[in-house]
Amino acid sequence: MLEVPAARDIVLRHAARRPAAVAPLASALGRVLAADVAADRDSPPFTKSMMDGYAVRAADAAAGAALRVVGEVAAGAVPANPVGPGEAVRVFTGAPMPPGADAVLMQEHAEVVADGVRVARGVAAGANVLPRGREMAAGETVLPAGTVITPAAVGLLAAVGRAEVPVYPAARVAVLATGNELVDPPAEPGPGRIRNSNGPMLCALAARAGCPARSLGIARDDPAELAAKLADGLTADVLLVAGGVSVGDYDLVPKALAELGVETHFHSVRMKPGKPLLFGTKGETLVFGLPGNPVSSFVGFELFVRPALAALAGATDPGPRVEQRSLGEAFAVRGDRPVFHPGKLLPDNAVKPLPWFGSADLRGLLAADALLALPAGDAKFPAGSAVEVIVL
Ligand code: AMP
Ligand code: MG
Repeated sequence: MLEVPAARDIVLRHAARRPAAVAPLASALGRVLAADVAADRDSPPFTKSMMDGYAVRAADAAAGAALRVVGEVAAGAVPANPVGPGEAVRVFTGAPMPPGADAVLMQEHAEVVADGVRVARGVAAGANVLPRGREMAAGETVLPAGTVITPAAVGLLAAVGRAEVPVYPAARVAVLATGNELVDPPAEPGPGRIRNSNGPMLCALAARAGCPARSLGIARDDPAELAAKLADGLTADVLLVAGGVSVGDYDLVPKALAELGVETHFHSVRMKPGKPLLFGTKGETLVFGLPGNPVSSFVGFELFVRPALAALAGATDPGPRVEQRSLGEAFAVRGDRPVFHPGKLLPDNAVKPLPWFGSADLRGLLAADALLALPAGDAKFPAGSAVEVIVL
């Protein structure tokens, strides 16, 4: 059976990033920048005051000195006159420095007297002044291609005059839940029926991964209904199908996908939970069949879908994010498949396995911010053992 890393390699081989497109800055958060961005001008574009106070010549501004105030510059204004010997100009934070001045005396350190100010505390040259170009120089690359656009990057892009930026677009995701037993709220589940948790959960996982998701609702375990909804989903970049992917008589998804021309690349991965996971492609569309138990779907998303979405969107390191942690308490595993067990990250690089009874226990996953990735085989890990975790 295919191991998780080999299965992920197959997925990533089919998840080449999509062509770059220009996006308005307001919708670029979380995207990956597709080209270098350079500063269009120096920043700051003029040497400016960092304080409310007085622009002075530091050599004249020793403690006790009296200076004549010969003008004023507010932020957004342009200095009208230079600062000569024995003079000062009233300035405010963000104002361009008048020529001749080389420091700003904070107003807290100045005492207003009849015709000017008396220096209460002397200033050194350069004090409270930000030199032109200190942050960046015109022409300098400030955001290299491949940068993930964070809020700080959005601010910097605005600072260099970009209202639009070239980015790799987010994959469009479609989500289909399958199963005769499923009911969406507000409908009440009748006898033998349960609520559809995977549909909303997978849409939320896609949203958290920065991808807009379209819900296709629920398909009954009926070949015609399934085929129609799957065909709709195949117009997306990534189709997530939950349930119906295993080997039972009502697991119709693999055959339905094949009939629609989806090529299956694998249909089983050595992992617990989530073994009967299917991955296929049709043209540019990636298809994931995730087992219906909610935690199986969740783990399959984290191990395979999230990295695929990141790679499609141009990420250089699509993840998952794996860290080494020490077990906060003793823990035992059994079986012939690697186990992905919900865990809580603790201070001091530790992790605690959470009480969890298996793939149907979505409630047990609620407090998790990590999955312990434990190797196959019967083993007892004492407290303090080094373990790998996948950070959620
Ligand atoms: P399946 O993968 O279709 O064999 O389903 C495995 C288990 O997961 C069954 O107990 C299903 O009832 C349950 N299940 C399937 N789909 C969902 C869903 N969308 N939400 C909650 N449970 C589901
Ligand atoms: Mg089913």
